Amino acid sequence: MRVLKSDPTPDAIFGHGFADIIGEYDWEATGKLIDNATPADVRRVLAKGRLGATLSPDDFAVLISEAADPFLEEMARLSNRITSERFGKTISLYIPMYVGNACTNKCVYCGFNHDNPFTRVVLSQDDIRRECEAIKRLGNFENLLIVAGEYPSLCGVEYFEQVLHTCRPYFHNLTLEVQPMRSRDYLRLTKAGLNGVVCFQETYHREAYRKYHPKGMKSHYDWRLNGYDRMGEAGVHKIGLGVLLGLEDWRIDVVMMARHLRYLQKHYWRSRFSVNFPRMCPSESGFQPKSLISDRQLVRLTTAFRIFDNDADISFSTREKPLFRDNMVRLGATSLSAGSRTEPGGYASATHSLEQFEITDSRTPQQVVDAITRMGYQPVWKDWDEVFDVCLNEA
Ligand code: SF4
Repeated sequence: MRVLKSDPTPDAIFGHGFADIIGEYDWEATGKLIDNATPADVRRVLAKGRLGATLSPDDFAVLISEAADPFLEEMARLSNRITSERFGKTISLYIPMYVGNACTNKCVYCGFNHDNPFTRVVLSQDDIRRECEAIKRLGNFENLLIVAGEYPSLCGVEYFEQVLHTCRPYFHNLTLEVQPMRSRDYLRLTKAGLNGVVCFQETYHREAYRKYHPKGMKSHYDWRLNGYDRMGEAGVHKIGLGVLLGLEDWRIDVVMMARHLRYLQKHYWRSRFSVNFPRMCPSESGFQPKSLISDRQLVRLTTAFRIFDNDADISFSTREKPLFRDNMVRLGATSLSAGSRTEPGGYASATHSLEQFEITDSRTPQQVVDAITRMGYQPVWKDWDEVFDVCLNEA
């Protein structure tokens, strides 16, 4: 359902892309679409999903509604079947490496917020080499997620280019979760070995976004939202989307994300996509989520997303508890982090600096591997096949 709105976007100076059309989707009307879904709607959408038909974002809205709750087992079975057919019984493992916690933004829910007085760290290339070596001692990781706060004058494109060069000898697959950049920066980083970019829009609600992100470059909604277009234009191989579940009405936010995903798939069909469903949790800054999403609702969301999009990677981080993550292996997840530290330098030294969020699955990578194996799944350290590596090298 598309509702035309005529308001010009105040941040329209920040390039072109999805921000130009998101105004066509009305927040309240989307909420009504979810609220008004009926059991008959759920049966109709599940029948489409079983036949392998492509679901629309409006179909997805039906599957995340309360009307779908009695169908949860059926959704779980279908999600499990689709995931096994598309990905095999495999779970890809990755590990995050925080390279800096300096940040010019003032996101009200984050402990790294610029106004929070604590000692900021940006790792040198030698520090990063030590982190890489320490991570390799933890497990056979080949997928590295490089994370930093947003402080472009210290951690800009030149810095990340060096970081990629430093990490490349240790890992096959390098993904960045840092500030949104220009297309030409993404292109430059892709040439330096960047495989993927993860960026959280946090919320698609434009007015609420301003409230949560009052200062710094992140306050510019359109700049962030059009960042995914810039990744696509630069040919980033894998683009990761996400919202912070609980900042606003999570159901509406994920439907907006589903619309965004369909838009990106249409325009940047050569890229692959991943999604992540982080639940908002109280940070060291004392922020309380506006709404909470229960375990059962998160299962409904994950299985619904798999039925909606058969090919996107669905990832769960160590924010979630061990039992919950283990259960998600059978319900649509394709990727898990393990052994994570969320403070810069946390692998090579026992630092006690501020963590961005609390880790609730503190199992070792081997314990995560054992749990995956016990469920009859194969843990995969590297999700790149040799053919793709060769193609990249020859390009
Ligand atoms: S959420 Fe990210 S951008 Fe915002 S304050 Fe925290 S580290 Fe900075």
